[in-house]
Amino acid sequence: MLTNDQLDQWDRENFFHPSTHLAQHARGESPNRIVKTASGVYIEDRDGNKLLDAFAGLYCVNVGYGRTEISEAIAEQAKELAYYHAYVGHGTEASITLAKMVLDRAPANMSKVYFGLGGSDANETNIKLIWYYNNILGRPEKKKIISRWRGYHGSGLMTGSMTGLATFHNKFDLPLSQVIHTEAPYYYRRPRRNMSEAEFVLHCAAELEALIAREGADTIAAFIGEPILGTGGIVPPPAGYWEAIQQVLDKHDILLIADEVVTGFGRLGTMMGSDHYGMRPDLITIAKGLTSAYAPLSGSIVGDRMWQVLMDGTDENGPIGHGWTYSAHPIGAAAGIANLNLIDKLGLVENAGKTGAYLNAQMSAALGEHANVGEVRGEGMLCAVELVKDRDTATFFDASEKVAPRVVGEMARLGVIARAMPQGDIIGFSPPLCLSEAEADIVVEKTASAVKSVLG
Ligand code: PLP
Repeated sequence: MLTNDQLDQWDRENFFHPSTHLAQHARGESPNRIVKTASGVYIEDRDGNKLLDAFAGLYCVNVGYGRTEISEAIAEQAKELAYYHAYVGHGTEASITLAKMVLDRAPANMSKVYFGLGGSDANETNIKLIWYYNNILGRPEKKKIISRWRGYHGSGLMTGSMTGLATFHNKFDLPLSQVIHTEAPYYYRRPRRNMSEAEFVLHCAAELEALIAREGADTIAAFIGEPILGTGGIVPPPAGYWEAIQQVLDKHDILLIADEVVTGFGRLGTMMGSDHYGMRPDLITIAKGLTSAYAPLSGSIVGDRMWQVLMDGTDENGPIGHGWTYSAHPIGAAAGIANLNLIDKLGLVENAGKTGAYLNAQMSAALGEHANVGEVRGEGMLCAVELVKDRDTATFFDASEKVAPRVVGEMARLGVIARAMPQGDIIGFSPPLCLSEAEADIVVEKTASAVKSVLG
């Protein structure tokens, strides 16, 4: 077996890590962690540390680690048929079955699912389908996509553009000109402290109207949003937000993409986040919770209104010129089937609602009154603690103080993984949906200790 020192050396010499300070990593100035195994909500590294993973990897290991039901399904599929493509009408028992299972769990008026590999490529598919759709309808100018500041939709060219976070744009020549951004539904950071939640909703809708008026409705194809902002800070929308936004979109014939990469398959305590907030999307992006990340698989669920036009398009133009080699990969599909069955069998959607509410309540009780906690917020099995310099004015700490990274560093030392969200001092939690109340207590206790040791 390789020694830890050998692996550390090879890691720093050869491995280009995503979202990592490349220079510090290569020079050995920042810590690395070599993960060895995992079970339930715990991961174990090669140094013998066991940590409670309160972020489920990257909000994705929804059923928890080490589920043999899924690993055995993957092994059986690999033995029987490791691969066949899905082009020109090919399929496998696994991919066809999973398509049906996804549609059975999707909101009303959804028609078909296209399978990809990850959330970014699924959102790239969505944009191509929307452009195709408007070309078939004879509206070649109607192409721009509106997303929100602080939205996260991936890190490809279009998807990185739609992501509304500066670190995903800077020095990459993004956003591309087809993408424009509007106000984030972030009530805690509203423009005026004395604005009510209802006034803030009207403000968000008015900002959207103004943007559409400036650009021209006939140039705007779609609006993309996560039901609840994830990587932008885990921010639930204010009450009535989606209804107000949908009214504006309907008025201007603008499609809605619900990016459910995080919320799909249970995280909010409902099967889909669109149902949770009464959204009526034309396209839904799914990934992470579809397989609980046991194998890479994503999907674009296409609604009836678009599907009819896509079919007309192929009658006019021949087969649709879009596909990946690994679309509907049978191993991913087998993992997806076993995962969705396990979610049902273990009642994880219900547990996400119940234990998620407990986690949020306990976190509020432990930290809500702390002088440097601006807000504890969440929904279902998502929770965030926003740290501020001054509670009354909601003033940020200076980024150079690295307050959130220091808190999560201390938490890791105490045995719990949380995430310092990329913009602002926000500690994010997105545990596996199987979290128990006792495990939630550990998360809360270690968070409170870490906040105390960094901020007093
Ligand atoms: N959409 C949302 C809402 C996400 O949270 C993510 C990833 O975190 C993505 C899209 C991109 O998914 P991937 O990293 O699999 O490309």
